[in-house]
Amino acid sequence: MSSLLIQNARIASEDSDDLTPSDVLVENGTIARMEQGIEAAEGVRVIDAANRILMPAMFDTHIHMREPGQEAKETIKSGTEAAINGGVTGVVLMPNTAPAIDSAAMVRTIYDIAGRDARIPVYTSGCITKGREGKELAGIDGMLSLGVKMLTDDGDAVPNMSLLKHAMEYAAEFDCFFASHCEVLELSGPRALNEGVVSHRLGIPGTPACSEEICMDRDIRLAHATGARLHIQHVSSRIGMETIRWWKQMGAKVTAEVSPHHLLFNEEDIGDYDTHYKMNPPLRTVEDNAALLEGLKEGVFDIIATDHAPHTPFEKSQDFVTAPNGITGLETAVISLYHHYIKNNEFGWGLLLNRYSAEPRRMMGLDPVPVIEGGKADFLLFNPDGQTTFTADYMQSKSQNTPFLDKTLDGSIDLVVLGDEVLLDRA
Ligand SMILES: [Zn+2]
Repeated sequence: MSSLLIQNARIASEDSDDLTPSDVLVENGTIARMEQGIEAAEGVRVIDAANRILMPAMFDTHIHMREPGQEAKETIKSGTEAAINGGVTGVVLMPNTAPAIDSAAMVRTIYDIAGRDARIPVYTSGCITKGREGKELAGIDGMLSLGVKMLTDDGDAVPNMSLLKHAMEYAAEFDCFFASHCEVLELSGPRALNEGVVSHRLGIPGTPACSEEICMDRDIRLAHATGARLHIQHVSSRIGMETIRWWKQMGAKVTAEVSPHHLLFNEEDIGDYDTHYKMNPPLRTVEDNAALLEGLKEGVFDIIATDHAPHTPFEKSQDFVTAPNGITGLETAVISLYHHYIKNNEFGWGLLLNRYSAEPRRMMGLDPVPVIEGGKADFLLFNPDGQTTFTADYMQSKSQNTPFLDKTLDGSIDLVVLGDEVLLDRA
């Protein structure tokens, strides 16, 4: 990329909700100068960013790329292009591929594919148990030696507490952490939707919130007892949020994430068996939405993560119980959170950038990427006056299983720059 001068932008950061007017000159992949009134030298591409917002690019720690094994849903190539389309320049993959990522050899395979196909950094988590079967420990030390930081059987909880405790004791001395998908399977039923008024109306056995909350409490308690660091994935209920708040007050080394869909939607949105609102943990109630938002603002939730979970149209068109759980999220997260919350002053850019850019990177042992003079270029340009329609054409994911399909929301992502590469260019 030749040099790039972005004029009249407003700069956002995790430290404040205020936007600072500045021009930004990018040279050789670095932010060479930041001040107002930078003159364009010859040969420099100039973008007039008046009214637009320049901010650190996002980082998503909960991604299902489906490769290897389910490439009809997504590949590392299509999934990372979807990330770029959503302003995300780094991802952490979940290990529930086929075969599962449970050994050093599988981690190497993922990094080989990513090295060939991805334009952004790709990190992977590794399984806690072999094949995610909950029976014996995975090749944890081999994966950790390749830089894996997050161990998880995401999609399932580890049912055997003794095994989980053993893994935590074993891994506590390494620089890694556990991530828990919390669910007591005996309570889950067919894992289709929340147990409540909607499950009763539709005549489908529901999964009660306590299925998630009991396991969450169990896992944090085990981590607290063993000294392991624990991260709680995709919290969906008020008591779940309160459980984490309580354990944090107790001094437990626990972090937690909330997904855009658990903030924005609830069981009522399922309407007439719409599988675009089917995921695990399921959407709960409007009261849970409010509690999760409160937890996000208060810092009970350290990060936002999408749980991007692509499925083919055929799979999602099956009946509500049979259709697989999960929706895509990478391409809609920033715009939907702007549309529903930031635009309405529910929270500001500072919070979003802290929870969806800086903190996820810190959790993975990486440095945040603030837009500052001398910093690496790793940013997006957002237009609050723009609009985005999430058509199949617009989206880069192989799958379009999202409630936002063909909907128009306020805001658009006009430019994504990483180092000396313009990854996305609608400026
Ligand atoms: Zn997941």
